[in-house]
Amino acid sequence: MGHPVIHATSARAHEERRHFWIGGAWHVPAAGLDGPCVLVRDPAGRDSVGCVPDGTAEDVDAAVAAARQAFPAWSASGTGTRQRLLTAVAEGIRKDEDQFAALISAEMGAPVDSARLVQTRLAADVFASYAELLDGLAWEERIGSSQIVREPVGVVAAITPWNYPLYLIAAKAAAALAAGCTLVLKPSSDAPLNAYRLAEVFEAACAEAGVPGGVFNVVTGSGAVVGKALTTHPDVDAVSFTGSTEAGRTVAADAAATVKRVGLELGGKSARVILADDPDGPTVADLPAAVRTALADAFANAGQTCTACTRVLVPERLYAETVSLAAQEAARLTLGDPALPGDHLGPVATSRQYADVLAYIDTGIAEGARLVAGGKASADRVPEGLEAGHWVLPTVFADVTPDMTVAREEIFGPVVCLLPYRDEAEAVRIANDSVYGLAGAVWCADARRAEDFARRMRTGLVTVNDGQFSVLAPTGGYKQSGVGRELGVHGLHEYTELKTIQW
Ligand code: NDP
Repeated sequence: MGHPVIHATSARAHEERRHFWIGGAWHVPAAGLDGPCVLVRDPAGRDSVGCVPDGTAEDVDAAVAAARQAFPAWSASGTGTRQRLLTAVAEGIRKDEDQFAALISAEMGAPVDSARLVQTRLAADVFASYAELLDGLAWEERIGSSQIVREPVGVVAAITPWNYPLYLIAAKAAAALAAGCTLVLKPSSDAPLNAYRLAEVFEAACAEAGVPGGVFNVVTGSGAVVGKALTTHPDVDAVSFTGSTEAGRTVAADAAATVKRVGLELGGKSARVILADDPDGPTVADLPAAVRTALADAFANAGQTCTACTRVLVPERLYAETVSLAAQEAARLTLGDPALPGDHLGPVATSRQYADVLAYIDTGIAEGARLVAGGKASADRVPEGLEAGHWVLPTVFADVTPDMTVAREEIFGPVVCLLPYRDEAEAVRIANDSVYGLAGAVWCADARRAEDFARRMRTGLVTVNDGQFSVLAPTGGYKQSGVGRELGVHGLHEYTELKTIQW
């Protein structure tokens, strides 16, 4: 009964979801099966790709009650049961990876290959990683005459965005469930369909693992209504939110009335620092590779990655050469239909995002930055075979100064700023001169100097050269980039309370 009604359109399937996933069943919304819906639009400008119910506070009450009811048994479950569920979910996602990838691509515009490789497989890897790390996890310790016991925090509300929709759901759901919490998910209204597919994976996985379905619940609708009902709900113990810093502030303020645990993964304006081989020297090891790496990072997912390093800091002596390499590299990158395989860039996800990114490009020009690639120019942004969509050319600004708006605010589109620096002290100052502190990167042939620089950056993550991401290592922000950490054992601890039993 929860299965979607699929209508073929000229371009692709249209998924109509009419229910919520609550208490292990497909639940009719309080407004009924014909109640208001949220339309999911195709960023590549074709017909809409689906719709989901626009939930209410009453629907949130039902979901929270189901999660609360499931909590005693789940929090008392053993490691083996939790591992069986998490493994079955990981396998369910892997088995359906083509469908997940097509859906995510249609909802938010990531080209289908990266929707499979990054968005979908990473989500499966996160569920699998929590099944693995439960082996040998220490839940208790002795301090003096006290026994310290780690216990699940309770019912968790997860509020997620559209940029890596399934992976960001996984980062919250897998950690919370591994900790013994039950969960109500409110996915982004811009990319909610993958959450329904995930609920179907949970339906099968719960049956396979012998777990009641109420451990994982999904309610869709706006942040203003469904999100707020969750953050203010007296029976929700913790809120984990990923999205804009602005909405994060509201979530934290709303959750304060009931003194909930709040985890926030917010925005960033991260810096990548290219260091000369020798502090006073005229060369950088493989500058073309440094520039390629910088642009690949900044333009991944059409620039809609919270950890993207969109400020690239370059030694003054090598600035002109770097600008020219970056302009050539950006011009080589192509925009293309997200439904097609390949390593092209897709559109930005929403019309709101599109308008914001183009406005930032105008602001950059108005404030004196020099456009050396991309920009707003011309209708040739729309790839062949398509007629509309939110297309932004990979854009590079040179002559950017640290006080410019484009160097200070998160743009969340394919726009990168190149800033010169005189010496390493100035590079550290510019890199840390931000209200954000999510990520950073250092490029340097000398590993010791790179590490030394990384330690001076006030951010939660620093990538050295082509350093690799690990699903077991914590991610999260300093300063206004957030509160708390996700992934691995540190992510699991966010969903626990510590109890001291003293003798
Ligand atoms: P938002 O922060 O508005 O949305 C993220 C999630 O929070 C969505 O599910 C949204 O619901 C929900 N939400 C919004 N307001 C509230 C609220 N008051 N209470 C509870 N939940 C709420 O992100 P946007 O989609 O509007 O993107 C805007 C900007 O945010 C981007 O330009 C980018 O700069 C940044 N961003 C950062 C991300 C990150 O990974 N750090 C991810 C996405 C965006 P709904 O949208 O369904 O109404």
